[in-house]
This record gives sequence, structure tokens and C-alpha cells, in this order.
Amino acid sequence: MNIILLGPPGAGKGTQSAMLVEGRGMRQLSTGDMLRAAVKAETEVGLRAKAVMERGELVSDEIVSALIDAELAAMAPETGAIFDGYPRTEAQAVSLDQILASHGRTLAHVIELAVDEEALVDRITGRFTCARCGEGYHDRYKLPEKEGTCDKCGSHEFKRRPDDNEETVRTRMAEYRAKTAPILPYYEQRDLVRRVDGMAAIDEVSAAIEGILG
Ligand code: AMP
Repeated sequence: MNIILLGPPGAGKGTQSAMLVEGRGMRQLSTGDMLRAAVKAETEVGLRAKAVMERGELVSDEIVSALIDAELAAMAPETGAIFDGYPRTEAQAVSLDQILASHGRTLAHVIELAVDEEALVDRITGRFTCARCGEGYHDRYKLPEKEGTCDKCGSHEFKRRPDDNEETVRTRMAEYRAKTAPILPYYEQRDLVRRVDGMAAIDEVSAAIEGILG
């Protein structure tokens, strides 16, 4: 099964993807994670994407679609894909259809995480992750049980995304509103969109998604 998680930054796409990976053995394909890895490794793609990402703007459609194509090519056909943060423009949505077809895959659901934008700024500006295992935390809502120690793997190192500051978050929201939300009708026409209340507690959102996937 292949699904898209759609929603503005901070809607919980990454958190829900991680739960689906753990519970169902699906594979999370996050173009944001791929781009951050490319920036860190200073690849050609990373060098081109770095400044764009720091401003909160969108990287070119060609770059992200090529990343997704390469990941799918390397995946076992029976492993389901969760597209997290892709597609973000109509051109990417069209490319994804072609890429999926070329790998013999179809799209089962587009799950829209509906959220309140102001609450998202609060969510995003406090979030951080374990530098070793990627477990997510928050300054106000989810601190590690033992200060400075990851609950999951025991590491003492944490990191924050450089684009999780208020100014960049506002640009990312504006990009979502202008370019990503308008692709919903593309999928609504095909009756693929399922709306979930992304402001509910993490476990409730997860239960709603499980209900959709069946
Ligand atoms: P994310 O981790 O999904 O919030 O993405 C972080 C940043 O990476 C975004 O603000 C964009 O600059 C870039 N990015 C990630 N995915 C895409 C995409 N599908 N299209 C264009 N830019 C992207």
C-alpha cells in the first residue's frame, strides 16, 4: 500500500510516518530528510538545496522527484511507501503518478492532516530530536523523562532543525498554502483524500489513520 501524508509543516507527518514504519513495516519517504542528508553530505543536490531550505522555500520539482524515483527503485515491491512532505506542488503530484506507474505501484490514500496554523508555530519552534535514533521531543509538550537522555536509545545528543525558527516557519506555511494545499483537488477528483484531525492527541491521530488503512 502506498499513501501520501499531506499537511503543513508541524502537522505530525513525521511522527505518524514513524508509527506506521514501526507498526506496519512500511517505508517513510521524506524528501525533507533526504535533502537534509544531502546538505550534510555536501552533495551537489545538497549544495543547491541548502540556502533554499534555510529560507523555507521549495526546492525544485526535478530534484525532489528524482530523489523519490531513486528511493522507490531501490525498494522491494511489496514494501508500502509513505510519502511524507512530497508531493508539495501540482507538478510533483503529476510526476509522482508517473513514477508510481513506472514502478508498478498505485496510490491507496491521501491522508490530509488538518491543523490550526497558529498552533503549529508553537509546535514547531519547540521541537527537537535525538541525534542518534531520531525520537521526537518538545520543549513544552514532550521532554525526555530523564533530562538530557533519550527515552528510546539513551543518547545524550539532541538536535534542532535550522529551519524551525518562527520566520522560516511562516514562509514554509505560506508555501504550503500557496502551492501544496491546491493539489488536494487533484486527488479529490479521484476520491483519494481522507481528512484526519491533526490537532488531536498523537495516539488518536494514529488510530484514525489505522482506521483508514484498515
Ligand atoms: P520538511 O522536512 O518536509 O519540512 O522539508 C524541509 C524543507 O525541505 C522544505 O522547507 C523545503 O525547502 C525542502 N523540501 C522538502 N520536501 C520538498 C518537496 N517535496 N518539494 C520542494 N521542497 C521540499
